[in-house]
Amino acid sequence: MQTSTDPRLQRVIDKQAAGDRLDAADGLAMLETHDVVGLGRLANADKERRTGPFVAFVLNRQVNPTNVCVLSCRFCDFATKVGDDNAYEMTLEKIRQRVSEPIREVHVVGGMHPDWRFERYVEVLEAIREANPTAQIKAYTAVEIDFFAHLEKISVDEVFERLEAAGMQAMPGGGAEVFSERVREIMYKEKMGHERWLEIHEIAHRRGLRTNATLLYGHVETYEERVNHLLMLREMQDRTGGFLSFIPLAFQPGYTNIVSRQASAIEDLRTIATSRLMLDNFPHIKAYWVMLGEETASMALQWGADDLDGTIGEELIAHAALASSPAGMTTHKLVKLIREAGRLPVQRDALYNVVGVYPAPGSDTHWAQRHGDGGVDPVPMRGLLAEAKALDVEGHGVKTWEMVTDAGREVRELAQKAATEIPAEAVWLTEELQQESAENVV
Ligand code: SF4
Repeated sequence: MQTSTDPRLQRVIDKQAAGDRLDAADGLAMLETHDVVGLGRLANADKERRTGPFVAFVLNRQVNPTNVCVLSCRFCDFATKVGDDNAYEMTLEKIRQRVSEPIREVHVVGGMHPDWRFERYVEVLEAIREANPTAQIKAYTAVEIDFFAHLEKISVDEVFERLEAAGMQAMPGGGAEVFSERVREIMYKEKMGHERWLEIHEIAHRRGLRTNATLLYGHVETYEERVNHLLMLREMQDRTGGFLSFIPLAFQPGYTNIVSRQASAIEDLRTIATSRLMLDNFPHIKAYWVMLGEETASMALQWGADDLDGTIGEELIAHAALASSPAGMTTHKLVKLIREAGRLPVQRDALYNVVGVYPAPGSDTHWAQRHGDGGVDPVPMRGLLAEAKALDVEGHGVKTWEMVTDAGREVRELAQKAATEIPAEAVWLTEELQQESAENVV
């Protein structure tokens, strides 16, 4: 059994081994431990139990329709005001162009424009749906949903009804920041508090919409506040089961003068691992490469994260705050990043349904060897997607993922037996899915 030189982390290890749920003291112990490697091993074992050797990403695009916002959160370098030099409003045509490539997810968030009516935000989704009928739309944070409800003087349910009719299929986790009134006073006092954020996500879950959750860390919050944030999310997930993924967002200091530097890589890894272990009811923990940077995101894949987000296209929000990562990534690069971390890449959709798996280079089923196309096509496991779809009638991505994990173990065992050669019959490929995968490479 794993041991640690840190007695407080040892207590967490013992509790994990006994299957006991972790509490606030354990969360604090993990965020404060000097045994970062031991913490990583513990979180990694937990990740492996859930998703085996797989790490997921999605072919996606971000659409930020405008950077003009009625609020002025202190930490935000993205938002601006009408008439400012850098203010922009995307036309529907430009939005259509941005999403017209073969992608699986469109992530839509942006400013709350003082002159836009709710209808304009609805039209954004309609334009995306028209330009790309098969991409899933993950749109608008709880803060924007609340804004629309006030703007139109309608209920949150009515807002969702209109957005769902326009194509919304899931909701991002932004706007949560830190669930702390103290932090809200300092950083974003005009913005709604955590009770409303949780309420809106609960309404979404009741409607059957799956959502994500975030934590913005590395500024003025305390470790206790981070842990409390995780516990509030876990408590809600116990009730609703509607969260798919948790994304710890490393604060980008940019021009804000709030802190002098971004959280260290060690701090990032502690936060990722602590999230994995505290949020025992969340299916996925994402290492958002845009904010972590490629190197730390890659390391996070050994510290409990099982997802890297996606190709993105052109990221604007973190880059307005001087994020040093590239604005987008190719499929090839994401696959390489995951493989270099010793993981097997999986392509997913916005709801964490599995699209395909990228086998290890060297196996005789490796697409590049068989098709000579650079190795960026996923190879769907035989029948997996069809079975996943059958099981996924209620959009319950966890079952789908469990199936992949089982299949992954099988593939790994076979690969171990035959060195790097995976027998062809152990895996893959229907004509239809090959075709679908080939069409979805960027
Ligand atoms: S964080 Fe969001 S709500 Fe706050 S100013 Fe920026 S865009 Fe507006």
